[in-house]
Amino acid sequence: MSEAWNRVAGRVPTGLLIGGEWVAGSAGVLEVEDPSTAEAFVEVAAGDESDMLAAVAAAHDAGPAWAATSPRDRAEVLRRAYEAMIEQVDEIATVMVLENGKAYTDAVGEVRYAAEFLRWFSELAAHVHGQSGRAPAGDKRILTNRRPVGVALMVTPWNFPAAMATRKIGPALAAGCTVVLKPAKLTPLTANYVGRLLVEAGVPDGVVNIVTTASAGAPVAAALADDRVRKLSFTGSTEVGRILLEQAARRVVNCSMELGGNAPLVVFDDADIDLAVAGAMVAKMRNAGEACTAANRIYVHEAVAGAFTEELTAAMAAQKVGPGLAEGVEVGPLVDQATRDKVEELVASAVDAGGTIRTGGNRVGERGWFYAPTVISGVEAGSPILGEEIFGPVAPIVTFTSDDEAVAAANDTPFGLAAYVFTGDLARGLNIAERIEAGMVGVNRGLMSDPAAPFGGLKQSGLAREGGTEGLDAYLETQYIAADW
Ligand code: NAP
Repeated sequence: MSEAWNRVAGRVPTGLLIGGEWVAGSAGVLEVEDPSTAEAFVEVAAGDESDMLAAVAAAHDAGPAWAATSPRDRAEVLRRAYEAMIEQVDEIATVMVLENGKAYTDAVGEVRYAAEFLRWFSELAAHVHGQSGRAPAGDKRILTNRRPVGVALMVTPWNFPAAMATRKIGPALAAGCTVVLKPAKLTPLTANYVGRLLVEAGVPDGVVNIVTTASAGAPVAAALADDRVRKLSFTGSTEVGRILLEQAARRVVNCSMELGGNAPLVVFDDADIDLAVAGAMVAKMRNAGEACTAANRIYVHEAVAGAFTEELTAAMAAQKVGPGLAEGVEVGPLVDQATRDKVEELVASAVDAGGTIRTGGNRVGERGWFYAPTVISGVEAGSPILGEEIFGPVAPIVTFTSDDEAVAAANDTPFGLAAYVFTGDLARGLNIAERIEAGMVGVNRGLMSDPAAPFGGLKQSGLAREGGTEGLDAYLETQYIAADW
């Protein structure tokens, strides 16, 4: 066991959280690996369908009392959890690095971001209002109430194990919903840490339940088939999202789906190149490229392509790669072998299609899933690397000559989550942003995520929004009462 794990192990429960108790899993245990060594360092409980249904029952039983608490009480629980998360940034970030691999600075950034969702939704909890007014015909009053949807099933990915949990749990608790969280099997420890903090902050038994699984399909399907589950909030791949939407359709479950992306980053001829490179580094390299918002395709006007490529190549080559907890490391290992192998295949396919590697293009080190920051120029339209999420530290560059060509290329994908535009002319940037089919567009910025802003995608990148006020709406239903007095 590593010294880092010894330092934090006592803070991380390894059971399933059901009805306020940490219990053993009916499917045995699940090993958690450190991606920088590819070695398992701890086991956590693995749940099956029976555990999932026990968690659903606990959430259902706790529902009425939680919905009846005052909004201010719910706000204060969330606020205490926010404060605890901020106090324990280092410990949570360390746990996250150990199971996910990301660089410690990325992990600290994520914990702060995750905590902000708890603060934002604690602030909104006391501001949920219905409306009252006379009908246009004057025959009655129209009253509307906002009420909690009910038991919410949450299925989250490994790439942001803390923030994807709090982005869902925060608004659910604020709205008065109860929760069953199914974290990714690669990163159960961060979720359990967050669960413990919530319990310590005063979340009553059964209001938040966590079921880690070694095999997600059957337990999640069992929950979606259960009449007590009224909400699904899923973040993950479009492929799995489609399966869950079909399952949810059978009982018409309310769905929020945050799915895959394929973000274009477009650099126009009038862009400030230093700013564009700095933005591209953030948009590409946050989490070593393992982000749904990661710049996946970089389109650069031919007039500035030479200067941009040179500067981006230098910045990428200067990144320090190594185990996420080591001093000064900016790029940790990828999360597992499959992710590393997919990155390698996509790079090979780009080279086969005529691309030139400017830096990187290789594994790093003897063990763990490290891959060098990579820039590929001269990538042709239609190359496989432009068609799917790379999920790694690889920047493919394509050149263009006109605004229309850039917009058409940016929109040439079934996905529509994020996009980035760099130009010295704000009006041009805003016009282009409106023409791009993406739920979120950064203009002269490589980072957009903010708990107070609506996060989500168009097209096959998802349904509904998280964060902002929309993120709370997703856990509320509107009831209309017609009355006359
Ligand atoms: P994934 O394979 O779709 O898994 C996501 C979650 O779904 C995990 O908890 C996984 O459990 C579970 N799952 C997998 N197969 C399932 C099934 N048949 N039935 C029920 N649950 C199932 O995605 P990932 O590889 O973890 O995450 C990367 C993807 O998430 C990327 O596409 C990325 O773009 C997307 N993402 C989107 C956003 C957004 O906000 N739009 C944010 C972050 C990530 P196991 O871990 O046990 O397999």
